[in-house]
Amino acid sequence: MNQDHDSKTKPFLDRSHLQANCENCFGLCCVALPFSASVDFAVSKDAGHPCKHLQDNFRCRVHTKLRQIGFRGCTVYDCFGAGQQVSQVTYGGQDWRNNPKSAAEMYQVFPVMWQLHELLWYLSEALSLNGAHPIHSELRLAEQDTQRLTSLSPQFILELDVASHRASVNTLLLRTSELVRNEAKQQNPSPAFKPKIEGRGIDLMGANLKGADLRCANLRGAYLIAANLKGTDLRVADLIGADLRDADLRGADLTGSLFLTQTQLNAAKGDHTTRIPASLIYPMHWSHH
Ligand code: SF4
Repeated sequence: MNQDHDSKTKPFLDRSHLQANCENCFGLCCVALPFSASVDFAVSKDAGHPCKHLQDNFRCRVHTKLRQIGFRGCTVYDCFGAGQQVSQVTYGGQDWRNNPKSAAEMYQVFPVMWQLHELLWYLSEALSLNGAHPIHSELRLAEQDTQRLTSLSPQFILELDVASHRASVNTLLLRTSELVRNEAKQQNPSPAFKPKIEGRGIDLMGANLKGADLRCANLRGAYLIAANLKGTDLRVADLIGADLRDADLRGADLTGSLFLTQTQLNAAKGDHTTRIPASLIYPMHWSHH
């Protein structure tokens, strides 16, 4: 598969509105979400309690040294833009400090918005893929519907049946994946192209897959924790929900991979030799590996 093929199936996708914009947020992830003392967090805190490092202006006091002081989890997290949506649209710029009455509600709305924005992330990607053309109208309807849900009032957002909405979107994403991967396989029918290591939810924890040809592999929900993926070819591989914590992606090619998120990338190890999709950014901490 060459780069021309990649650029045809996966044009640059501007999803900046679906990426965290902390400047326009009331530090919602730092308040609404709980965390437990672990390798990812130096301390524990309950949902609805501000992190002790959150300042009055909603900026993180230790932002530049999170990893060094034991808050690796914060450097992995991405809200898909749900933080600024809840802060500026759902609550019209009224923050939880000045409006303590709506604070508890805002903390409940945020995780729901996060799920809706995650779906928007996947749907926008699916719509950018030529191979998914046969179902573009269904994808567009699902995107419009999800977009509509994100602008509901807090009361309606909290009444949503998000699980069933997720399930119907997931059906479309599965079909997208099959269409796109089958198309790529047909265009590249060499025997070496057939992925040997794949399977939904496959357990590849700590596996040594160095240099493997994983093009078009179905790695949905795969457990790739601490796997050696150095130099792997993951183009057009479906990585939705794959657990890439501490997976070594140095020298790997993820351009044109399907449904990869910033959080997955942030949780993995990589460096300047890792090739990533154009709509994602190189994690700040990668330069240290
Ligand atoms: S919720 Fe999102 S936008 Fe808000 S501080 Fe957290 S990461 Fe940034």
